[in-house]
Amino acid sequence: MGMFDHVNFKTKCPNCSADVSGFQTKDSKCLMQEVEPWTVRNFYTSCSECNTWIEYTNKNGSPSNNLLLEEALGLLHQLKDVIYEVDYENVQEFLSRAEPKNWLDNYEVTTHPIKSITLTDEEE
Ligand SMILES: [Zn+2]
Repeated sequence: MGMFDHVNFKTKCPNCSADVSGFQTKDSKCLMQEVEPWTVRNFYTSCSECNTWIEYTNKNGSPSNNLLLEEALGLLHQLKDVIYEVDYENVQEFLSRAEPKNWLDNYEVTTHPIKSITLTDEEE
C-alpha cells in the first residue's frame, strides 16, 4: 500500500537553482502512481543540494483542472442518452493528461530549510 503518489514535475530549486524532481503528493490516490501536477492541490519535494523543502500549493485550494473536468463530465452526463456508452474513468484519465494553460500560475511555491535530522540523515 502506498503512502503518496509521484508527481510528474521538474523545476529549479528556488533557493540554489539546482535541478529538483522527485515531487510527491498525498492529494491523489496514494497508490505510488505518477500523476500530473495540475491534478493535485499540493505537491512537494526537497532539494538535496541545499536541504530546502519545496512545496507547491494551489492558491484556489483545488487542483487546476477541476473545473475543466467537472464541466466535461457534466456535459457527458447530459449526453448519456445519446452516447451509447461513456467510460467516465477513461475520460477522466484523458483529461487529467491535458495540461491546462498557465496552470503553474495558480500555484504558489513555499520553501524552508529542512532542519529535522531524521529527514536528512545521510552519511557524508
Ligand atoms: Zn536547492
